[in-house]
This record gives sequence, C-alpha cells and structure tokens, in this order.
Amino acid sequence: MAKTPVLTPQAEDFPRWYQDIVSKAELAENGPVRGTMVIRPYGYGLWERMQQDMDARIKETGTQNAYFPLLIPQSHLHKEAEHIEGFAPELAVVTHGGGKELEEPAVVRPTSEMIVNEYFAKWVQSYRDLPLLINQWANVVRWELRPRLFLRTTEFLWQEGHTAHATYEEARDFAARVHRHVYADFMENVLAMDLVLGRKTAHERFAGAINTLTLEGMMADGKALQMGTSHELGQNFARAFHTQYLSKEGKQELVWQTSWGSTTRMIGALVMMHGDDNGLRIPPRLAPTQVVVLAIKGDDAVLAKVHEIGDALRAAGIRVHVDDRTDTPFGRRAVDWELKGVPVRVEIGPRDLANGTAMLARRIPGGKEAIAVDRLAALLPTVLEEDQALLLKQARERRESRTAEVTTVDEAVEAATAGGWARIPWATLGEAGEAALAEHSVSVRCLVTEDGAVPDADDAPGNVAVVARAY
Ligand code: AMP
Repeated sequence: MAKTPVLTPQAEDFPRWYQDIVSKAELAENGPVRGTMVIRPYGYGLWERMQQDMDARIKETGTQNAYFPLLIPQSHLHKEAEHIEGFAPELAVVTHGGGKELEEPAVVRPTSEMIVNEYFAKWVQSYRDLPLLINQWANVVRWELRPRLFLRTTEFLWQEGHTAHATYEEARDFAARVHRHVYADFMENVLAMDLVLGRKTAHERFAGAINTLTLEGMMADGKALQMGTSHELGQNFARAFHTQYLSKEGKQELVWQTSWGSTTRMIGALVMMHGDDNGLRIPPRLAPTQVVVLAIKGDDAVLAKVHEIGDALRAAGIRVHVDDRTDTPFGRRAVDWELKGVPVRVEIGPRDLANGTAMLARRIPGGKEAIAVDRLAALLPTVLEEDQALLLKQARERRESRTAEVTTVDEAVEAATAGGWARIPWATLGEAGEAALAEHSVSVRCLVTEDGAVPDADDAPGNVAVVARAY
C-alpha cells in the first residue's frame, strides 16, 4: 500500500506544499489580524540562531545595537518626499490613544529611517562623531495586501542597520561590506543558500535610496526571493534632517548614509530553497538540533544508551536532542523529525544495542546505514559538514541549470513563466523592456556585471539583468 504523503507534493501544488510545511513542521500560524503571524518555538528557534550569527557579524563591522520607538510622528514621514511616497500605501496609523483622538497621529514604523535620523542629527556634530554605526533588532509593520507567512507578513521581525559617514566613498564601501561580509557570507556559509548578488534598477530601488544592493535566491519552484538589501541613502535623509558635521577643515558638511535590513523572510527562504516532499532540510550549521538520538523502544537498556550517546555527542560539540518519548510510536516520531528537517537521526533499538550499532539516517542526502556506536562522535562532525556543502551545491546546480541566456523580452518572459530565470544584456532590455516584463509579472531582480559581480552603476557597460518571477 502506498504511504499517504504527509505534505502536498511540491509538483502538485507548490504554495500548498509551502503552507503544509510551515504548519506541520510547527514553524508558524496565522495571527488573528490578517497578515500577522504567530511564530512557534521551532520557527523562533531558527530565528534565534540566525540572530546570534548575524549579530556577531554585524558587530564585527564596528556597529552597535540600539533601540528606537515603535511609534513615529506622522509629520516625520513627510520630511523625505520619495520615502513617504514609497511607504504611504503600507502604513498603519495610530489615531487614538488613551481613549482620545491624538493631536498628531503616529505611524507604526515600516522602517526606522525617520526616527533614527532625528537622533543622528543630534548625535553628529563633528567629524570625530563619524562614522556612526547603529543596528536595531525590532519588529516593523507594512500593511501587505497579499500576505504569506514569513515571506511577506504585515508585521515582521528584522534587523535594520543605519549608518552615517563623512564621505560618499565611505558610505558606498560600508553598504557593500554589509552586503558581502554580513549578508552573503552568513546566507551562503550558514544557510547554505545560493545567491546572486547585484544592484537594483532605479525602478526597484528602496524609496529614498541612491543605490540598493540585493541578494536574490532561486526557490525550488524557480521563482526569485529577495533575501536582504543594503542601501546607499546618499545625502537624501541628511538634507531632510540637517544631519551635518564640522569637517577637519572647519566646514559644515552633510553626512552620507546607509541602511540595510534582513528579516524573518529568511525562514521562508529556507523552506523553499532546501525543502522537499518529506519536509524541511535544515542546514547543519544553522540547525538548533543537528542530531536527534531516538530510542525505538522504551526498554531500560535502550533508554540508558540513547542518553549516553547524547552526552558523548554533546561533548563532541554537536547540538543534540534525545528523543525518549517511547509512548509515541517510533514511526510517527521519525516522520516528525524528518518533517522538521533535523539533519541527522541516530536510531537505537534492542537489536542495535546487541550489535553495538545504531542506524544513522541522513536527512539531506537521504538514506540509512548501520554505524558502530563508538564511531559516532568522531564521524558525525564530518557528516554534518558534508551535508551542509551538499545543500549549497544542490541549490547552485538548480539555479545554474534553470537560468537561460536570452536576448529578447519574449524569451525572458518565456523562461520566467516556465519556472526559471533569464539573463539578458541591460543595454538590450533597458527601462522600456523592464516595463514590458512587468506586464507579465516578471521583474528585473538585479543587475550584475558580465562576470557576475556587482556593478558600480546602473548603466555601466556590459551590465546583465537577471530576470524572474518573484515572491
Ligand atoms: P527594505 O527595508 O524594504 O529594503 O526591506 C528589507 C528586506 O526586508 C527586504 O530585502 C526583504 O527581504 C524583506 N521584506 C520586505 N518586506 C517584507 C515583508 N512584508 N515580510 C518579510 N520580509 C520583508
């Protein structure tokens, strides 16, 4: 008899498959207000691991954490014209407080440029106060019309960096450093994500920025997901808030700024880049639990052994969970760990005990084999690293095999509609081509140079547009 699948198969209905995983792997549920989300402990555990790793990388750049208020006076948003125009449709506005109508409504932050810059203008006086490098971990609200759990929620969790520098070059280099050495390094080395790093076209740029750097990932259905952004804000906000410093030469100068953010969307990306018909596949370097040791039966000798193995693996530096809930059938527990994407299961029953072996089940390549128990602690760190590398390799191969080199808008639309990406010379496509793509719900995800680097300018010769349908 064929097993009834726990999840809707990807090939049958990808959005349903995604929803099934989010719910059955206990990552999150919808909140009562449309677009909001309850993040369950397993999902939040992934976010905490992301936060820890990224926070260390952010601090390595010399950036410090701070916290700014959730509510921003509405008038602040009007200070930078493009910024308000970009965010106006997504704002949640508080009009009443303490039972009375407020004299001035407050908006719930959709991002914090408007409040951070008010204080930057006070804190920056001279060149000695620069660079000013601040990050905050917070929630923001953008009233999304087509919400999807993790990918596009009305309230989401993120980090947002805000910096001020003395020169254009310093700000430009800092935005690039975050893009490469905070975001790309973290996402490639910890999340095992294959990404294209590039710059947004003027049309896709952040409201109020002079340049937006992006990281784009191909999901298992061939659509693109923007994984994070790092913006050069130029002097737009400095002008609006009069953020000036006295230079060494004794002149008043406006600062140059950056801002950059990455969000709980990364959890959705993890599902869609690495997941399969059996559930999640969590990269070992991220996994809160790298190895689960399961007792197949509840006899005393088996229970003692699983705890002994758990201790030995923990001592070898592995993040281990011992599953001794033998009042739940073993098969159900095994399927559940598989769904949750724990990289390795070590399974022990009475027969294994007698043989001095355990069954090793690897979630990422799949398959099971018997291993001598006393070899586990030495073997598993290597297994985990191999599986980490395999996830990245599979994602990279998928993008490479599904990316077409094209020369016309029609071919680009065809590739994107068939579930792939296209690369097309920007000189051929241009803004008119970009508008034509939009009619087919296809967009320019980013511009890259011919050899795949991040270009210095939109119209730099040889730029290539990476084109796809996107989440
Ligand atoms: P932005 O401040 O608009 O550049 O956004 C920063 C990052 O947040 C983007 O690169 C997206 O990856 C992510 N993002 C934007 N909107 C949402 C949303 N509604 N839910 C989750 N993540 C989002």
